[in-house]
Amino acid sequence: MGELNIAPLSSWGIDDKRPIIISGPCSAESEEQVMETAERLAGQGIDVLRAGIWKPRTRPGSFEGLGKIALPWLKKAGEKIGKPIAVEVATRDHVFDCLKAGVDILWIGARTTANPFSVQEIADALEGVDIPVIIKNPVNPDLQLWIGALERINRAGITKIGALHRGFSSYDKSRYRNKPMWEFPVELKRLYPNLPIFNDPSHICGNRDLLSSVAQKALDLDFDGLMLESHRDPDSAWSDAAQQVTPERLGEIVRGL
Ligand code: PEP
Ligand code: MN
Repeated sequence: MGELNIAPLSSWGIDDKRPIIISGPCSAESEEQVMETAERLAGQGIDVLRAGIWKPRTRPGSFEGLGKIALPWLKKAGEKIGKPIAVEVATRDHVFDCLKAGVDILWIGARTTANPFSVQEIADALEGVDIPVIIKNPVNPDLQLWIGALERINRAGITKIGALHRGFSSYDKSRYRNKPMWEFPVELKRLYPNLPIFNDPSHICGNRDLLSSVAQKALDLDFDGLMLESHRDPDSAWSDAAQQVTPERLGEIVRGL
């Protein structure tokens, strides 16, 4: 098994507290939506602002993101609240657009992690760049595929790497959108004790009701932080409406942990 060269979370340029809270809308929808959500989230003490710009959707016809026109909105919102911004990348061009726009943290989504060609393309685009990269687990429960993605990004010279557990799709119905299968992140943590690891209750749950219990479980298992989707008006969100919460509700959930 290859070793990973892992920089500590304290080197990422984010507040060194636990849990680190990454929040923001599933998708950037307008400049006003990004700004209002960011300002209300800042009032709740988040550490990193997230938004999807390119949305890999299971079926075509769903909202696929506004693309790079939304990057300056996110940048401006991050500067306004004084927090780093995080964006999902799935291709070489996404990486270049994000680097040009001054995005602080990149993440690789679950559908992308499942494809070694895509991950390698992103890794190649990151050669010689120093930026934190968070790698979500692949959609399917395959620890080797998750580790392989971490290795590919790490071999490109990225040492600020982290893992993000967002659950796994399964054929049988369950109360979760994506089954947590906690044994996967736990085993990853056993293999790489220094690897920063985050949990994404939003995509595990797929609804608002279970968010607190999943977030609490992650903290009980000593995860370093949480990514939780939040929208200024969740019910009208263009993607993942059922699982998003208002910034104020997000604050309540976090304070309740
Ligand atoms: C997201 O974070 O909005 C997203 C698309 O998540 P995932 O890759 O976990 O499905
Ligand atoms: Mn989402």
